[in-house]
Amino acid sequence: MAAPSVSITPLPPGSRIGILGGGQLGRMTALAAARLGYRCHVFCPGEDEPALQVVPARTIAPYDDPAALDRFAAAIDVATFEFENIPAASVERLQGRVPVRPGWRALHLTQNRLREKDFLRSIGVGTADYREVTDSAALARAVGEIGRPAILKSAMFGYDGKGQVAIRPETDLDEAWHAMGAALGILESFVDFAAEISVIVARGLDGGIAAYDPVENRHVNHILDTTTAPARIEARLLAEAATMARHIAESLELVGLVAVEMFVTKEERLLVNELAPRPHNSGHWTIDACATSQFEQLVRAICGLPLGATERHADAVMTNLIGDAVNDWHKFLAEPGARLHLYGKAQARPGRKMGHVTRLSPRR
Ligand code: AMP
Repeated sequence: MAAPSVSITPLPPGSRIGILGGGQLGRMTALAAARLGYRCHVFCPGEDEPALQVVPARTIAPYDDPAALDRFAAAIDVATFEFENIPAASVERLQGRVPVRPGWRALHLTQNRLREKDFLRSIGVGTADYREVTDSAALARAVGEIGRPAILKSAMFGYDGKGQVAIRPETDLDEAWHAMGAALGILESFVDFAAEISVIVARGLDGGIAAYDPVENRHVNHILDTTTAPARIEARLLAEAATMARHIAESLELVGLVAVEMFVTKEERLLVNELAPRPHNSGHWTIDACATSQFEQLVRAICGLPLGATERHADAVMTNLIGDAVNDWHKFLAEPGARLHLYGKAQARPGRKMGHVTRLSPRR
């Protein structure tokens, strides 16, 4: 954790942390903040959001409501966000009134897959081959260059596989363009990966860096299903993944967390798929298996506190409870050692993340 000597005045316990977004990531951040004596204020558009259940203060308003943003700024000491689809202009407005960590730059870069990949390439990080696509003629040209199979994704506002269309040998490109449904797309070459991994890195206000162990992620229907910590890949690749993630956090100059999702190719290369400048589903295992959880680490980073130890004291497998899977909550509670986390969502719709279970085993 090499930190340059910069004098930093930490926000003391009792300070007010504003969180843009009301989902489970905000909820778990607020719980970690409460343990350290901070009070969280959630800003989100809906009344029925998981984070609202655990915080003492709220602003319910659209993310682009300037008066509500100004009131929010006046009521907090620092702001953060728990998902990327907050209008960057709203963060810019807040930033003029209160520190926002991570700031506008990290948010703006990661809101657009094209911008994100251009940035990664500019700092020497490998990605899948990609092209910007603005209409179906451009898609045909891009497919001509990249080849099939490929994946067409909306450049903005996509998550959990939404706005994505596979381009197979038989796919009609005109139909694919319309099925993707956005005005700006990115065509990516299909990576025939051996594994998907991610690394979560924290960067403090003083520039200090702390990374968690790389973990392995398995997706089902484009949604994260299980995370295994640590990733079962060669030591050389583990070290390379951690170095790459640190390099990205430093290049972004962010204060907070960044989750770096990567493919391990069959040729044992690492290609970055996506960045998320916030706590990440693939870091939930850290609550039960590390000295400092990713949520506490975010609080420490944005409040100017020293970053906590990221070592794991156990190996872990985290399983998401998606939709009806949550109905088995009583079975998980009866299972010795299983750690159940529920997000307080009333309705178990298909594809909705309702909670997760973490199972620990002795560290290898
Ligand atoms: P994303 O929304 O970019 O995180 O994509 C969701 C999931 O789709 C990833 O975790 C991968 O399993 C798969 N995927 C995305 N992009 C590619 C790609 N270029 N090649 C192969 N699989 C991909």
